[in-house]
Amino acid sequence: MATDDDFARRVLAWWDRHGRKDLPWQHPRTPYRVWVSEVMLQQTRAGTVVAYFERFMAAFPTVHDLANADLDHVLHLWSGLGYYARARNLHEAARRLAERPATDPFPRDVAGWMELPGIGRSTAGAVVAQAFGERASILDANVRRVLARHHKVAGASSSSHAQRTLWCWAEQHTPVQRVADYTQAIMDLGATVCRSTKPMCDACPVQDTCAAHATGEEAQFPHRSPRKSARRLERRRFFVITAGDLVLLEKRPANGVWGGLWSPPERREDEPLDECLPRLGVELATVAETTHAAPFRHGFSHYDLDVLPVYVHLTRLPAEVRDGVSLRWARRDDALGLSAVAVKLITPPQRSLLETNP
Ligand code: SF4
Repeated sequence: MATDDDFARRVLAWWDRHGRKDLPWQHPRTPYRVWVSEVMLQQTRAGTVVAYFERFMAAFPTVHDLANADLDHVLHLWSGLGYYARARNLHEAARRLAERPATDPFPRDVAGWMELPGIGRSTAGAVVAQAFGERASILDANVRRVLARHHKVAGASSSSHAQRTLWCWAEQHTPVQRVADYTQAIMDLGATVCRSTKPMCDACPVQDTCAAHATGEEAQFPHRSPRKSARRLERRRFFVITAGDLVLLEKRPANGVWGGLWSPPERREDEPLDECLPRLGVELATVAETTHAAPFRHGFSHYDLDVLPVYVHLTRLPAEVRDGVSLRWARRDDALGLSAVAVKLITPPQRSLLETNP
């Protein structure tokens, strides 16, 4: 029977035969490309990330290109990937890295990466291991699941006790040789074999030392966090105001949901229309048609949002736009950072979804 000491060897042997070796950030595996990919992979599957990563690299091939880019352009290329704080942090981190010596802008150790915004211990470890081949450990959600099951680590993964235990195991298993491949291998194992539901234990290279598998308790690990209070539901109204082929967009506050992105203006549901519109610079005499479309629900991590779209078509553009810098008239295909909800809102609705309001 295999011993736990050769955990990494078995994982690497499995990866050599079955692992993913055609991911774009693996060719070439430079610090910049690995860093961008690791930030994109936080909370997002590799299959989704690939197209975003390739577009991002085409637009910003170096850290200096990213540092010099307009944040709107960065957010535009991030549109649809979600968790937009990642893009803002990436951009800010690039600016800081660009101030370092041009020939060597990237830290080589975990502590150096963790000083940058948006980089935690696991992301820093993943970059250092893959970009420099230095021994560093990772503990992303996939790795947490493998280790929690393999060692039957008690407690919710988010608890500090479980975190400490999991990091100990992560460090113990990290090999000295082939650390870059091991990092990809253990992530792949969690993503493709030790899946959150229906793990494929028969295909797993560490099955014979897996404590949860030995007792048939794969589904019990990792332990779940204590039940949170019921998801709350919010309702907000979004004004899609158009004139010709232009649409009015508002820049959202940097902090908060969809921070820094452009969106149709959001207003409280109980604010009267004839008060909202003038505040947005709309002359009521130019309103040709107002329609309320069917609401739709958008899920965030902690709550659901019922989006109530109101379409307002104007006969002509206002002479001036109130609120100045936070409002702009744009074409639908302008290169601006838009959330998936904003894209859905400004896509011309089907008439069947509209209920004309007085
Ligand atoms: Fe996960 Fe099953 Fe492998 Fe254990 S044997 S690590 S539960 S896939």
